[in-house]
Amino acid sequence: MRSEKREVRSEIKKPELLAPAGDPEKLKVAVIYGADAVYLGGRHFSLRAGAGNFSEKDMAEGIVFAHERGARVYVALNIFARNDDIGSLPEFVESVVRSGADGVIATDPGVISMVLSLYPNLKVHLSTQANTTNWTAARFWQEQGVSRIVLARELSLPEIKTIRMRVKAELEVFVHGAMCISYSGRCLLSNYLAFGRDANRGDCAQSCRWRYALVEEKRPGQYLPLEEDERGAYILSSRDLCLIGQIDALAGAGVDSFKIEGRMKSVHYLATVVRAYREAINFLYANPDGYMVDPAWLAEIGKVSNRK
Ligand code: SF4
Repeated sequence: MRSEKREVRSEIKKPELLAPAGDPEKLKVAVIYGADAVYLGGRHFSLRAGAGNFSEKDMAEGIVFAHERGARVYVALNIFARNDDIGSLPEFVESVVRSGADGVIATDPGVISMVLSLYPNLKVHLSTQANTTNWTAARFWQEQGVSRIVLARELSLPEIKTIRMRVKAELEVFVHGAMCISYSGRCLLSNYLAFGRDANRGDCAQSCRWRYALVEEKRPGQYLPLEEDERGAYILSSRDLCLIGQIDALAGAGVDSFKIEGRMKSVHYLATVVRAYREAINFLYANPDGYMVDPAWLAEIGKVSNRK
């Protein structure tokens, strides 16, 4: 039984389902459970230092595995690079190209220009960390040679539609997973509270998700009641994103790729979420005028979500 039904456009290009691959096992799980593409990080330049990440050999093997099953692989190069990072960039990009990756995901303008000058035909996706929030910014990046823009997570559907109407580059949108409380991840909270663990260098301690209490200045140690749910209060943390009920509107708006967040999430989480979205996209594609959310998808996703 599906719960809601609403009218949408009957012309829908099937969007790509893009899943995180935190390590080689997760890559296989994501592909087997129905991802059209996965994104992963190498040992350098990736914004998920805590994920298992891939050696060059792992990357090459993972890409072969994905390609044999018709899936694409994008490699993250999305740290905010410092001067010391730049020297080893050409060698790393060469290894990514040698591995057969279908594209790279980058944020830093210097990294993007260097990658494109070395490999003009390599597809470069602009990371959400670049905070693309309007069509002029999207057009700017398109003119720099970026083939896909991962939009900022703060955008509304009308804003996405406006960008779609004015920009030819592919558009990618996050549909599921944890949300940074700061502007698209530009955040110093972890750096400040977790002894220098820098979110912008791939080492976020997720400090926004710690449990916090309210203390009045003159009563140290006395925590005032502050309740959000039975597990406590997470006043700096946003709820997880879940747009499975809105994929018809996003596809209708011309979004090319639906991205699931979470290279550090478990294999079980990954399998569950990828399968639900795979079924949802297939259902949408088969029924473009009558997309309905299957309560079973929500139930399955609900079992593995942290912040509903
Ligand atoms: S501390 Fe929270 S808001 Fe800041 S970067 Fe990490 S996950 Fe995002």
